[in-house]
Amino acid sequence: MTRIAIAGAGIGGLTAALCLHEQGFRPQVFEAVPEIRPLGVGINVMPHSAEVLHGLGLGPRLDAMAIRTRCIEYRTRFGHLIQSDPRSVEAGFPAPQYSVHRGELQFLLLEAVRERMGQDAVLQDKAVTGYEQGEAGVTVLFADGSRHETDLLIGAEGLRSKLRAQIHPDEGPLNYEGTMMFRGAVEMDQIGDGRTMVIAGNHDVKFVTYPISEPLRQKGRALTNWVAEVRLSSPRHIQDADWTRGATTDYVTPFRDFSMGDMDIARILEATETVTEFPMIDRDPLPFWTDGAVTLLGDAAHPMYPIGANGASQAIIDGRVLADCLAANPGPGGLLAYEEIRRPVTASVVRMNRQGGPEQVLDIADARVSGPEDRIEELITAEELEAVAASYRNVAGFQKKSA
Ligand SMILES: Cc1cc2nc3c(=O)[nH]c(=O)nc-3n(C[C@H](O)[C@H](O)[C@H](O)COP(=O)(O)OP(=O)(O)OC[C@H]3O[C@@H](n4cnc5c(N)ncnc54)[C@H](O)[C@@H]3O)c2cc1C
Repeated sequence: MTRIAIAGAGIGGLTAALCLHEQGFRPQVFEAVPEIRPLGVGINVMPHSAEVLHGLGLGPRLDAMAIRTRCIEYRTRFGHLIQSDPRSVEAGFPAPQYSVHRGELQFLLLEAVRERMGQDAVLQDKAVTGYEQGEAGVTVLFADGSRHETDLLIGAEGLRSKLRAQIHPDEGPLNYEGTMMFRGAVEMDQIGDGRTMVIAGNHDVKFVTYPISEPLRQKGRALTNWVAEVRLSSPRHIQDADWTRGATTDYVTPFRDFSMGDMDIARILEATETVTEFPMIDRDPLPFWTDGAVTLLGDAAHPMYPIGANGASQAIIDGRVLADCLAANPGPGGLLAYEEIRRPVTASVVRMNRQGGPEQVLDIADARVSGPEDRIEELITAEELEAVAASYRNVAGFQKKSA
């Protein structure tokens, strides 16, 4: 049987392991941290990637923890509803969109890997530093000096991928868009139906919020995840980014004049105990991902702005496609087939997110609406709005059954 090693037990690496196992492989996952802890706050699993997780039999577990998001509401800072973009099964998608705590999703996947493949399928405290490649296969190199022989190696170690750096040693620093994303989650009363994601403001000052706990929703409460995006500088390059860094700048003042009616944004921000900051960063799409028997997946392959909620979703789909391609061709040819399918699609999402993705409707509205008394339906047509949403669904690859 082809031996497969995966560097990184994040959302992408673990999904790839489950999909490969379903195809009859027994991949070995290596994770850098000594103990995986449920880090991060909310992420979204879009309908097409939820379909992958449902296909792996994880639907009931997801339903028990995550919110089945009904729709995304785009609003002006005066509270006008610009557009309501349905995401649910009821709206015709083959699977729901889930809003979920990133750490809980990672644990769900980790548990499934261990149940199906054994406790030792994921080895922790094994930071991959690089690889050597020869006639006999690939040698994975670790920070502790140890080595591991394999036939294929998948780099799923996220943003700071060492394998990407080895395959593309001349790549420069990260592209920082200039916007800082302050992030947190707070337990509070449910807003609206408890299944709606709200995105309000404009490109420079934007508030994104969605509930992420199904157990709390069932009690009429909400774990409200939020991202307060504030432009702090013009675009530039930066060396590094850290998901766990605490907020260092005032993130409340820019939102004091937002009026949403059903939610007091400043109060939500002030009530949150732990707030982190993470820059909006990405990298230019790569000309290739695969070096012989080594390839990349997820953020290691295509870090993108978290616009349109695509980071985790695209990593999950990578895992599915990789496993299917290796089932058909369990060697470097299978890796190339995977890259041929996934690299162009993810490059388009990276580029489209730079243009604002589906959130372009915020800027269209912001340019035309000047106060709360304006009637938005007189300033923007439904066709104009649907064109933006449909174009993004098309590029990101999730369609309604009827489409
Ligand atoms: C700690 C953390 C918190 C995050 N929080 C959020 C969040 O709140 N919201 C959001 O939208 N996105 C968050 N993300 C990013 C998000 O999970 C990814 O964008 C998306 O899920 C794609 O997943 P991925 O598997 O490609 O990368 P990731 O989920 O980043 O997983 C990469 C994995 O590789 C491991 N790793 C790193 N270097 C090595 C190495 N050298 N050897 C072996 N393993 C290595 C990491 O520890 C991690 O477990 C977070 C990522 C991390 C690591």
